[in-house]
Amino acid sequence: MDVEAIVAGVLAGDRRAIARAISLVEDGHPELEALSAGIYPRTGRAVTVGLTGAPGVGKSTLATELVRAEREGGRSVAVLAIDPTSPYTGGALLGDRVRMQEHATDPGVFIRSMATRGHLGGMALAAPEAVRVLDAAGYDEIVVETVGVGQAEVDVAAATDTAVVVLAPGMGDAVQMAKAGILEVADLFVVNKADRDGAGEVVRELRQMLHLGAARSWDPPVLQTSATEREGIGELLTAIAEHRDHIGTSGELVSKRRARLLREVESLAAERFRARAVAVLAADGALGSELEARRIDPYRAAAMLEDQTAAAPE
Ligand code: GDP
Repeated sequence: MDVEAIVAGVLAGDRRAIARAISLVEDGHPELEALSAGIYPRTGRAVTVGLTGAPGVGKSTLATELVRAEREGGRSVAVLAIDPTSPYTGGALLGDRVRMQEHATDPGVFIRSMATRGHLGGMALAAPEAVRVLDAAGYDEIVVETVGVGQAEVDVAAATDTAVVVLAPGMGDAVQMAKAGILEVADLFVVNKADRDGAGEVVRELRQMLHLGAARSWDPPVLQTSATEREGIGELLTAIAEHRDHIGTSGELVSKRRARLLREVESLAAERFRARAVAVLAADGALGSELEARRIDPYRAAAMLEDQTAAAPE
């Protein structure tokens, strides 16, 4: 399939084309530029929700319940499960297949795992393009699920319209989250496994920490769910919709998306420059020798490299 066919397929909502497009993103394939150019005009319509939290808190189970609830409401949903560290690829995760089973024949649902193999700048840069593929394919809502609470996950969460941080009793406490900087990017908190002892304690601890933070125009609510019991899911959907209304009315949605796009462009440009600088350095050993001989210093060398990189052909 050539990239034009992939673009046409994505825009027509063809699942095979969508899968191929996301693989191009994972691989950092050279055709990515043509893919992006083809789909970008048809993006910006989907609602994006991030689900972030420590492994085992119940994100996948919650995502599955969100899909069910959205389908009941007649909306189409895609789930992008992102693992910045794992080598698996291609949406071939056993978990995906199991999760897909319930929705296998439902054209309104698309579930896919993603890792990055070759994308410059890693997951934080690959994720937005994968989300745009799903957006262009026409899904009303895109749930972006991450596996952990590191910097990459914080970045991915911050790249969605509504970032939901999930906790559970006994797993990944609020202090750990605060350290990862995730409290600042959260629009909503969910304490899942509310059927377990200690959920109330997690809620209290979280509210205390939030109370210490700077006042914001949106006070992130703290909800309780029990995904396996299908409890609290309706409330979660309502809270997501309320947050979305809030940012829609206040103008934050527009400013957030614009800032996000500009950050992405900045990072993409920086990565391109970096890749070329590495190539220029590799092709020319003179700089190293000059440095070694103390004829030039690292700052001067960096300025020279900058000039050479800017002048180098792409
Ligand atoms: P993830 O790693 O955050 O995606 O977590 P999973 O969704 O894979 O869930 C981890 C485990 O917790 C699984 O065995 C789930 O069945 C279980 N689990 C998920 N939600 C709940 C819940 O609300 N209550 C209880 N008791 N267990 C849950």
